[in-house]
Amino acid sequence: MNFPIGTLLLGLALLIVLALIVALPLFDRKTPVVRPPSRREALEAERRAVIHSIRELDFDFRTNKISEADYRALRAALVQRGAEVLRALKALEERDVDAEIEARVAQLRETREATPVPANGRVCSGCGALLPSGARFCPSCGQPVAHSPTGVQAK
Ligand SMILES: [Zn+2]
Repeated sequence: MNFPIGTLLLGLALLIVLALIVALPLFDRKTPVVRPPSRREALEAERRAVIHSIRELDFDFRTNKISEADYRALRAALVQRGAEVLRALKALEERDVDAEIEARVAQLRETREATPVPANGRVCSGCGALLPSGARFCPSCGQPVAHSPTGVQAK
């Protein structure tokens, strides 16, 4: 090894710089891009904007900055737009609720399909736990299982 230490350090520095140049675009790609607003967010922003505009319009009218005819026309248009936005938001919420109910139903269906149903379908008279077929004692509370010829739990 006949490298002077200075050359070695310079080489190391160059290597680090090169590594950074190569790696930086990768980091850039990983930084989260600003998510475009969802439809709901856009609607809620518009609702706030409409309410703000109506307040400003009311203020302008009270301070005699606009004529009554202009005020009434502008206000009617804003109120109408606000109603449209509210309707759209409500429709969106109803769709969300529908999707939620469907998801819950699917979940329950899956759970029921996954739960093994005992062949005899009997339950413990003591605690109500499902009994495996042929069980002599309840696996949950330990109560002796009363066997009946019909396979139905005796009362
Ligand atoms: Zn039991």
